[in-house]
Amino acid sequence: MTTQRVYLSTTIPYVNSRAHVGHALELVQADVLARHHRRIGDEVRLQSGTDDNSLKNVLAAEAAGITTRELVNRNAGEFAALREHLSLSFDDFIRTSSDPRHRPGVDRLWRACAASGDLYRKTYEGLYCVGCEQFYTEAELDAGNCPDHGTPPQLVAEENWFFRLSKYADRLLAEISSGRLRIEPASRRNEVLGFIASGLEDFSASRSVARARGWGIEVPDDPSQVIYVWWDALGNYITSLHYGTSSGGSGDYQRWWVGADRRTHVVGKGVLRFHAVYWPAILLSAGEPLPTEIFVHDYLTVAGRKISKSATGPNDPIGQPSAKDPGANDPVALVRCYGADALRWWLVRDVPRVGDTDFTVDKLIARANEDLANGVGNLVNRVVSLVHTYRNGVVRPCAPPPGTSRWLAAAASADRRGAPDWPADAAEVRATLEATPDAVRAALARFDFRAAAAAVFRIVEQANRYAETAAPWHLARAERTNGAPGERLDRVLGALVATCQVLASELWPFLPDLAARVAGACDDFGGRLPTPQPVFPRIEVTAGNESARAGSRLRSPQYAAVAR
Ligand SMILES: [Zn+2]
Repeated sequence: MTTQRVYLSTTIPYVNSRAHVGHALELVQADVLARHHRRIGDEVRLQSGTDDNSLKNVLAAEAAGITTRELVNRNAGEFAALREHLSLSFDDFIRTSSDPRHRPGVDRLWRACAASGDLYRKTYEGLYCVGCEQFYTEAELDAGNCPDHGTPPQLVAEENWFFRLSKYADRLLAEISSGRLRIEPASRRNEVLGFIASGLEDFSASRSVARARGWGIEVPDDPSQVIYVWWDALGNYITSLHYGTSSGGSGDYQRWWVGADRRTHVVGKGVLRFHAVYWPAILLSAGEPLPTEIFVHDYLTVAGRKISKSATGPNDPIGQPSAKDPGANDPVALVRCYGADALRWWLVRDVPRVGDTDFTVDKLIARANEDLANGVGNLVNRVVSLVHTYRNGVVRPCAPPPGTSRWLAAAASADRRGAPDWPADAAEVRATLEATPDAVRAALARFDFRAAAAAVFRIVEQANRYAETAAPWHLARAERTNGAPGERLDRVLGALVATCQVLASELWPFLPDLAARVAGACDDFGGRLPTPQPVFPRIEVTAGNESARAGSRLRSPQYAAVAR
């Protein structure tokens, strides 16, 4: 199979408040895609960052009585730290207010659109919600209020730069209808096609310096105006690749944007229009290639409540820890209590491709205990313990079935000659292993994380079942009766250890930390497996923060060596 060059991005959130579990969903989805592509040999660059230049940040800083710079530095730092907390693998993290790559890129993108004759000045008067940074028509308001914030919009009149979006309707329709710009799921694609067909209006592309409080990037050659969010925030996808200073056929921009086989944006449904209409139109105007794929995820609710788009800070009730759900909205608190594996697993295993999903700590714990403690943990602990009990820790794993690998284990490089044959009654396990890579590939190609996780988990179910039916303990008793070591027990144990090694490899895109522990537990390098240690202790639910103790065990230093 030929390898691809894949450029993946998350959206860059406003940093007017702290990260919530909804951000974790998008970050983990993008991370799973990135790790999956790396594992199958593709070249991957995963991009994330923060939108520092938003007017919302200015307003949040005013409300908090600190400078915008202070607020942005503090909150952007928290978003960047999610890499460690959630075991993410992004290659780059751009902060739009301070990264030296960003401003020249935005400047160049604006000038390219201006050179195409697509930017013009016009007086605009409209109803504007500061919280949304968006103008609304009367029809879009909810009883005169912003549909998101429930507050009345301000009447704003000023001269701005406008972008000729209307000019690009036909080309956008052609790109999206043809699938050259693929939008998934199909319902979102149809939504975008309908929106374009209903007629596109030019949109405002700048703001007065005064209303932006002087924060943001100036319009080239017009110091009275600041570039509005579209060129600035959406531009991050290419400014981070040194678009502003790129020239000729080399460099990151050529390599990762122009030359990539896939340019994939992972976005939430709330910013679909901006990514599927505004952004491609800007790129068409600038004469640059479009993204090839946009995957649109729906939203999480937390304990039945919507996560507010712009109010998830300390003043937001959802953000307040409660006795029932300590920090249910805070991904860092969740990881501290339950570990990154438990949170990541719930996000990929239980969130469907379409539809909002309600998150609760109870669901996270139930899923982790059922799948990771009872499923993976029991399997690995049982297999390693059996090898120690009956073979003093020494085992020869069966050869991995075609198409699978166990590259996480040092054993992958060990000499495989003389590996025992798979026992005939392990055919089903073996077939499941063999089918898993294609099943995962197909599911992730349609951005169905839940189906991909289920495909991997099938290995665990099959292997646990096989351990029951093959019953190594009966084989061991027969050996004692016969007084001679039996080849069948060697082969059964060899099959189970090989299965766990392949499982570690297949788990890695989803749960890199647990995958590394499974690989370590089943590492037969040197011929002997390590002493059995639990790879995922059950999360005990007791009063209050008692559950944090389970989490702290999971995050202890012995698990810190994680393959990234
Ligand atoms: Zn609003």
